[in-house]
Amino acid sequence: MKDFSREVTLICPTCGNDQFEALDPNIQDLREAPDETQLRCPDCGLTITKGDLIQENSEKIEIAADEMAQDVAKEFEKELAKALKKWK
Ligand SMILES: [Zn+2]
Repeated sequence: MKDFSREVTLICPTCGNDQFEALDPNIQDLREAPDETQLRCPDCGLTITKGDLIQENSEKIEIAADEMAQDVAKEFEKELAKALKKWK
């Protein structure tokens, strides 16, 4: 089986950039940062909290989750077909 853990990139709702920096220089890992962390898009200068950014991207995340589910279903069908062939 393939590894289906796909990383979902958060993108800037204004310009589509996917790189953010924390306004707090003590924060190194944005993934570990709390939702209220202020992030800044270096491209357009938008500042947004991590929680709001996730909210803005939630639709995209849902689509990615749907695609992932479809991939898993397809892969399962393939595995099942392979397994069934062995019995013939
Ligand atoms: Zn931006």
